[in-house]
Amino acid sequence: MQVVNPATEEPIAELEQAGVEETDAAVARAKAAFPAWRAVTPSDRARLLRRLATLVEENGEELAQIETRNVGKPISDSRGEVGMVADVFHFYAGAVDKHHGETIPVAGGVDMTFREPLGVVGLIVPWNFPLNISSWKLGPALACGNTVVLKPAELTPLSAMRLAELALEAGIPEGVVNVVVGKGSIVGQRFVEHPDVAKIGFTGSTEVGRMVMEGAAATIKRVTLELGGKSANVIFADADLEAAAAAAPYAVFGNAGQDCCARSRILVERSAYDRFLDLLVEATRDVKVGDPEDDSTEMGPLISAEQREKVESFVDGEPLFRGDAPDGKGFWFPCTLVEASNDDRVARDEVFGPVAAVIPFADEGEAIRLANDTPYGLSGSIWTENGARALRVARAIDTGVLSINANSSVRVQTPFGGFKQSGFGRELGMHALAGYSEIKNVFVAT
Ligand code: NDP
Repeated sequence: MQVVNPATEEPIAELEQAGVEETDAAVARAKAAFPAWRAVTPSDRARLLRRLATLVEENGEELAQIETRNVGKPISDSRGEVGMVADVFHFYAGAVDKHHGETIPVAGGVDMTFREPLGVVGLIVPWNFPLNISSWKLGPALACGNTVVLKPAELTPLSAMRLAELALEAGIPEGVVNVVVGKGSIVGQRFVEHPDVAKIGFTGSTEVGRMVMEGAAATIKRVTLELGGKSANVIFADADLEAAAAAAPYAVFGNAGQDCCARSRILVERSAYDRFLDLLVEATRDVKVGDPEDDSTEMGPLISAEQREKVESFVDGEPLFRGDAPDGKGFWFPCTLVEASNDDRVARDEVFGPVAAVIPFADEGEAIRLANDTPYGLSGSIWTENGARALRVARAIDTGVLSINANSSVRVQTPFGGFKQSGFGRELGMHALAGYSEIKNVFVAT
């Protein structure tokens, strides 16, 4: 298969695609490597993960360049993401010997719990943050003593392949980290069906997540699903409107909108609506769209022609604002703001492109109702200078991660994941370790 640079449409690599046979061979290698890997002492396992973190840092520029050419994301974003990948492995190196069991008072003896690894885990990763999301799953999976088969998205396999080489170079034994490059409907599907795969860690669309969950039922596999989103950016009239408007474009146009955390519904209190809209249009005009390899670029192209077509289908009629985008080769799409009602398709479905719906609300009650009026529940922001309101609204919105007076959703140390049809299970922080281990209870009669 050919791997293409979405900014130029030029092929940048040619790879052989794995089928079912190669997938089974990778699972067999991971299974064979499991007993020795789970027996590695906690200190040594931590040392290996720390070494991997250091190698990611040392090879950071190369990894960032790979990610930018393969995904089309601005190089400054790729550098930041690679920095996070190193931090993720540092964090889980430190977590290896801090995720432990407990003793429980019972009659007649001593009762204790152990955190046991699951065995071979199958990790399925999308194309929007290939390296980052790989690390979010690999870090806790390896820290807990599992071996791994990882399938990057067909469109963006290159950084995960390089990461697997670095894992070997770090001294992580052969067979512990396996990357299988191929189609989701073949390789991913086989992970889901395979009786020797104990768990699927999946990030991607809600539609495929549903299929993964259905398929996992046959072998009672554990699943973690990190799926789509339609998050709200709630702007109250008492907010610092300048700050909120300056931040809002980056909350939805970052990664060209191909972000499950994109705050693609901008809910604005009616009394501040006109003023905020002026500020928002100005701030959106400032987003620098163009060559991802240029240090100052803030938004690159979409991942594929197919994705561009899908995104285009969400814009009918005259938008509030449409920015500039390069002509010619590359899957470009301009930053676009549309006025909408929460019932419109652009406000209901995940666009996964640089299109934001701006929706007015009357008061706090309506803001909460609109924010929750979606099948998704992944992320969101609240902008207000009233601290009590900020917390009241944060508690009332059914979503996994929220920020107040900020855009951020993802930090190495804090749990990340969804409510409702955005999935279940948590990545990052100490919470992710629960998804890659089983609790075993042992009683000793005394
Ligand atoms: P998918 O859900 O199809 O892809 C995610 C991953 O799942 C990829 O590695 C894919 O492989 C794999 N996959 C596909 N089919 C199967 C299957 N039957 N069994 C197991 N694994 C499978 O997302 P798309 O790439 O099709 O994107 C479509 C839409 O999904 C986007 O427009 C966006 O709305 C949403 N999306 C959300 C993401 C998020 O972060 N929440 C990430 C990506 C997409 P392969 O790509 O090789 O076929």
